[in-house]
Amino acid sequence: MTRIRARVLNPLGPNEVEYLSDALVVIDGERIESIGPWDGGLCHEDVRDGLLTPGFVDAHVHFPQTRIVGAASGPLLEWLDKTTFPEESRFAASDHAERIAKIFVQNLAAAGTTTALVYGSVHGPSADALFAAATEAGVHVIGGPVLMDKHSPEALMVQVGPAMEELARLHERWHTPGGLTELAVVPRFALSCTREMLTTAGQFAKDHDLWVTTHLSENTVECQIARERFGTDDYLQIYEDAGMVHSKSVYAHCIHLTDSEMDRMAAAKAVVAHCPDSNAFLGSGHMPIGKLLKRHIPIALGSDIAGGRSYRIPRQASAAYDNALATGHPVRPEQLFWWATRGGAEALGQSDSGQLTAGFRADMVVHELPDWVDDADGALAWLLFDHDAPRPRDTWIRGRHVWSRNGSSYPWLQA
Ligand SMILES: [Zn+2]
Repeated sequence: MTRIRARVLNPLGPNEVEYLSDALVVIDGERIESIGPWDGGLCHEDVRDGLLTPGFVDAHVHFPQTRIVGAASGPLLEWLDKTTFPEESRFAASDHAERIAKIFVQNLAAAGTTTALVYGSVHGPSADALFAAATEAGVHVIGGPVLMDKHSPEALMVQVGPAMEELARLHERWHTPGGLTELAVVPRFALSCTREMLTTAGQFAKDHDLWVTTHLSENTVECQIARERFGTDDYLQIYEDAGMVHSKSVYAHCIHLTDSEMDRMAAAKAVVAHCPDSNAFLGSGHMPIGKLLKRHIPIALGSDIAGGRSYRIPRQASAAYDNALATGHPVRPEQLFWWATRGGAEALGQSDSGQLTAGFRADMVVHELPDWVDDADGALAWLLFDHDAPRPRDTWIRGRHVWSRNGSSYPWLQA
């Protein structure tokens, strides 16, 4: 049992946070035993000079793009050809995949991300490297290799049969529901897949009760090519025809959707991974957040490394605020904090994380906090919008201390 005395910022709902200036959080193993006002008793750690929050959820991030953060070669299709595909090709080599996987999971922990939905490279063994690194570092990863079998560089294509064999092998080895590693089915996007790949992948996900995730409607040129190649009226229909639009599916970007597509996603309870920094950096456009909220479409935030430029989900929340204002539908900081934590966890089916609550997983982050901040509004302003704030000081995942900034240099120096 560990008793931590802390200032706490906790999400209570999409429009509600609680700020506790002197709280006691009791950790028992992987879980929070209790949280409440400080009782004056024994304390193992006192972090009241910082701010304790739940860990963050990153619903869309690419592990083989770790080394190309900041590659300014957009828009999307050019960026993929010039920068992304050459780097992802390197993941055929296991030693490269293993080294970058270690750096990647450290980057997540150093950003305060405690659960992530992760795209791998097309190579099955690079997914082994990702899961092994996540296990060692103590980071919760839902992920898998990307599936690509059409209109892509030769080195990055795998045919349907071998791809499904690799998924079956990875499922057997790594899929631990409720554990740190869970397999996801990840067709890259319609442009890199045949109809057969999408359909088979969708069925594999259903058969094994796995998350399926892909990109949707990110770039207008991509949308046009997708419709032409598949002969559909709109982009979403391609994925609907493959049986992969449902409550265990996550779609990244969703910028250029029609009203009909949004209505159908809402009816299917499909999840949107909102990646506003990537959308800005690749010039993809603004996601119509108000239209999604009106339809109650579940939303989580995604860093979309390396389309996005920061692993830190609070930076994505800040970009989501900008996006919302620009689309004429402002959102409150409480809403952003909710998406970053409990809302994101809920969207990814995590019933017991994203909030500091008795019985939940002890996924927690300590942030630096200026001494003049002593209320919820000030804490939200600092946490979400002050881009000069340092990285989180400490991160725990399931009660295990997985990151400390003190004495550490940048994560890549440790891998
Ligand atoms: Zn992406």
